[in-house]
Amino acid sequence: MSRATLDILPTPLDYSALPAEDLKARIQRKKEELNAVILGHNYQRIEIQDVSDYLGDSLGLSQEAADTSADVIVFCGVHFMAETAKVLSPGKRVLMPDPRAGCPMADFVTRDALRRLKAEHEDAAVVTYVNSTAEVKAESNVCCTSSNAVRVVESIPRDQSIIFVPDKNLAAYVADRTGRENIIAWDGYCYVHDDMVLVELDAVLQAHPDAKVVVHPEARKDLLDRADFVTSTSGMVKLAAEHDKLVIGTERGLVDSLNQQYPEKTLIPLSGAAICGNMKLNTLAKLAWSLDHERHEVVLEENIRLGAERALRRMLELSGGWSAPSAEESRLEEVGLRKSGCGCA
Ligand code: SF4
Repeated sequence: MSRATLDILPTPLDYSALPAEDLKARIQRKKEELNAVILGHNYQRIEIQDVSDYLGDSLGLSQEAADTSADVIVFCGVHFMAETAKVLSPGKRVLMPDPRAGCPMADFVTRDALRRLKAEHEDAAVVTYVNSTAEVKAESNVCCTSSNAVRVVESIPRDQSIIFVPDKNLAAYVADRTGRENIIAWDGYCYVHDDMVLVELDAVLQAHPDAKVVVHPEARKDLLDRADFVTSTSGMVKLAAEHDKLVIGTERGLVDSLNQQYPEKTLIPLSGAAICGNMKLNTLAKLAWSLDHERHEVVLEENIRLGAERALRRMLELSGGWSAPSAEESRLEEVGLRKSGCGCA
């Protein structure tokens, strides 16, 4: 690559005109200069996954990032994930390639709206799904993932009401599993999972009547009722290893990665349209631009960071903490799949 092409260009659009190899060289050079690490979520574009130092779910990535000696974290995911990395790594700079990569589910609830609901239910505990902003986490008693939501809710006295934010589908699933009627669910949802419908499942099953069905708990109850298994993406990875024919109800990125890993199996997306556009906003050009310009830094007020950290650490205590991946998990991680963690988060 010539010296001229290494000059810093003004806009991400300028970078998008460069060949991929030039972008990769820039990314590598700037990474070394800044002592940066690139974290890529499992649902990122393949071009981003290819240049990521770590692949996985947001919580596992954030915890691994906290353990690295890097000074800068570039988080290729959505905004709440980059915030979580900052919460757990306050001494590191966290950058995002595109700050517009937000999560519509997280945006369903704001700190002020949650405060108003808390005021109406003063004795209620607040359980917050990790797909939420740091401000909302800081207003919460404890966080949860889709993997540990049942365990977290069961840790709260049965006679105490629970405000569960922001996913109404996960709240309904947890209420069903725990038999609790005192869960006040926020009216939020993930459009990727909530948009999956029974007619799509019927069509897939007509073509593959002997396939088992696994659905993520962020999906609607009528789909969960028809599923053989309801589990997080980590559980889906495990099931894919155990079954030869599986209909998988979650974001396409996971199904595509599983198909790459198990080309001999029949792993079918429940919905071909289950794609999170927000996750795909990050591109190689934007990543190179944000590194060159050291831009789109995630900044949190310290009181919010501390509040969010308290709720996250409480969850980790209840779920047995986080540990380094096993050999099997590391193998899965190499192909972009982590057994630990939850849905997109
Ligand atoms: S898949 Fe759903 S929960 Fe995950 S980032 Fe996209 S909208 Fe948010």
